[in-house]
Order: sequence, then C-alpha cells, then structure tokens
Amino acid sequence: MSQQQDILRDAMRRLNLTRDAFSERLGIRRRALDTWLLPADSGESRAMPEMVGKFVAEILQREAQATAGADDRPLGQRIAAEGRPHLLSVAQFDRDSLEALFQVADVMQPIARRQKVTRVLEGAVLGSLFFEASTRTRVSFGAAFCRLGGTVCDTTGFTFSSMAKGESIYDTSRVMSGYVDALVVRHPEQGSVAEFARATNIPVINAGDGPGEHPSQAVLDLYTIQREFSRMGKLVDGTHVAMVGDLKYGRTVHSLIRLLSLYRGLKFTLIAPPSLEMPAYLLDLVARNGHVIEQTQSLEEGLRGADVVYATRIQKERFAGEEIEGYTPEFQIRKALVDALCKPDTILMHPLPRDGRPDANDLSIDLNHDPRLAIFRQTDNGIPVRMALFAVLMGVEHQVARSMRDAGWRSPAHIGPDDADFDGLD
Ligand code: ASP
Repeated sequence: MSQQQDILRDAMRRLNLTRDAFSERLGIRRRALDTWLLPADSGESRAMPEMVGKFVAEILQREAQATAGADDRPLGQRIAAEGRPHLLSVAQFDRDSLEALFQVADVMQPIARRQKVTRVLEGAVLGSLFFEASTRTRVSFGAAFCRLGGTVCDTTGFTFSSMAKGESIYDTSRVMSGYVDALVVRHPEQGSVAEFARATNIPVINAGDGPGEHPSQAVLDLYTIQREFSRMGKLVDGTHVAMVGDLKYGRTVHSLIRLLSLYRGLKFTLIAPPSLEMPAYLLDLVARNGHVIEQTQSLEEGLRGADVVYATRIQKERFAGEEIEGYTPEFQIRKALVDALCKPDTILMHPLPRDGRPDANDLSIDLNHDPRLAIFRQTDNGIPVRMALFAVLMGVEHQVARSMRDAGWRSPAHIGPDDADFDGLD
C-alpha cells in the first residue's frame, strides 16, 4: 500500500471522518479522494497533489494540539482517584492538570498574602486527622481551609482518638464523614490514607502515609520551583535537581521525584549513604521517563552545578532498630560548600523540619540570610497550593476570583524579617 493511502486512511481514522466529510473538509471532490485511495497498481489511481498532503498534515497537527488541551472536564474530575475527589498520590496528575492546579494557586495568592478574603467554602467543615507529628502540614491545611471561608475540627495522635480503643480505619473514616465535608489524614502506615478514602465519598487528602507519599508537599515544592525559575527566566525542563539525605524513607522526595519526572530531560543527582538510597521502583520510573540519574555518596560531587538542592531530614521514626550507617556530619550543607559548588541562581529547598543543631547532617542555619535559601518561600506557598487543592476537590475553583473582597485588617508587607531581601524578586 502506498504511503499516500496510509496517510489518508490514518487521517480519516484520527479525525473520525467519513470519505464524504473528509473530502468536504479538504475542499476537494469526493471522486478525487477515491482515486488517491485506490491501490497504486490500479489503473485509476492518481497521485495526491503535494499541496493537499501538506494540508492534511496541518489539519492533523492542529487536531493533536486541540485534543492535547481538550480535557475540559472540571479539574477535580481530571485528577480524581478512581473517579472520586481524593488526593492520595501524585500519580493522579499529568503535566496539564498539574499546571492547571498551579493556575488556581496563583488566583489564591492575594488571599494567602492577606490582601483579599473569600467565603467560597462558607459553612464547610474540614476534619483534620493527624496520627503522626506535624506542624506545617496540619496548620497550613487548616489555615488554607479557613481562608476559603470554612472551619476546621481536628484530632491529633492515636492517644486521643478512638483508634487507641481498636477502632478500624473504615469505621473512623465513615463516622467522620457524617460530621465534616472533607478529610485531611496523616497516618504512619503506607497505604492507610487510601483505606480512609475507600470508606467515604467526601474528599480525602493524603497528608503523609508513613514512608509512602506526601502529594500536597510535592505539589507545593514544584510550584515553588516554577515560581523561583520563572523569576529567573529558567524552565523546569532540562534542569538539574540534587536530592540529599534520607531518600529511602523520605516521602516528600518520593512524591517530588515522580512529579518532576512529568517534565522533560531532567538530571537528578541523588546523594545518600547506601542505607538511605531511593527505592528502586522510583529509580526505574524516573529512568523510564528518559531522565538521567546519578547516585553518589559525595555531597561535593552531587551538589556541583545543581539548579535545585532539595535536602531532607533523616526519618528517624521509620528506623526499627536499624543502624543509620555512613551518614556523618559531612552531609551537612553549609554555606561555604554551597558557595563553592553551586551557582548564584541555585535554589535551596527542604520540606522541613530541619535539624538546626551545629553538627547536624542537614541544611545548615548559616545559610539563613542567603537569598538562595527558598525554604520559607516554600512554606508560604503551602497556603495557596492547599487552598487550590481544596477548591478543586470541592468544585469551587471558578468562584474564587469573583468572590474576593479586600481584607479588612492591616498585615505586614513582609512576613519574615529577612523577606525584604527577596523584595521585587517575584
Ligand atoms: N514534614 C515532612 C513530612 O512530614 C518532612 C519531614 O518530616 O522530614 O514528611
């Protein structure tokens, strides 16, 4: 079969058009199309004019572009977990839905910065269930829900919940669902939050399931990278990300590396002692997406030339009597090291908390006044991102912009005493 016939048949299939409709679309007579489609050895076969070939290619290209962005379902449905409005894993995102979520987060910025207020979630109640330690995640989810006009009821730790009396996840989730309109859950067991989600039809957000995932953290991390990069005129595609520390149990890096792998041509340097290396299934997934991965135990080697340095804390609570071998204070990321190995536009990130003691193998506090340290811009971004997640999962994202009013109270121009150093940068 000639190439011309293949091209035409493929075009009709992809455009879902009959011969009549296709010839009409091309502005040619049906009879002409028939002759181009005839076997080359048939006496009646004719060659398709070059101009028509180009036109067909153009139509197909336009169609491909249109369908690529054509998922016009509400964002909450596009990222749904098995058809339901939960956020359990970053695997629910593709690049388009992730960037659509970032647009919603941008709309939330004036509210997060206390210039505007909204009441789109007025009357809604969030149930916040944290069975593991948390400061940032618990408070920022709560604050995000309140800033959308909702209120929060919470319980923290097993001791003060009925789980201490042997109640199952199913019962707890179903009971809570009768009281509140959305749940944010942190639990020490991998997969446990998905179990909460299976027992309810209200939105459930995974705020950390043991060493599994921490999807909202990864979304706010990537949102931070994008904002920092856009200020510097850089793209996420092709960037070099160094991840340091407990890559074995650190759920934030597990989620972040998956999200980053939705982009193109990244280089990852993974810096960890052998006992704390990134799980193999994640390495496979990232490599399958065409990214470069280098694993090293040397901080000097791994940090050199990185655009993003993402440091993590050792997840001591996940070690059941195992020794943490080879993780010495040499893993501390100090200012002198960053000055020597990194660039003026490298950004330094950490999901926090960090161990700020002098000999800790973590992101050193001597970087506190360095504008490359993005950790507080990162925590600040937790509010607009978590607001966006609630708005999308509860279907109010389109009401926010038109509902905003000016805030009635006075708030500081800069939240932190060092923030003025970044003034005008974003
Ligand atoms: N806050 C983050 C988490 O809950 C990071 C950490 O605890 O080290 O995973």
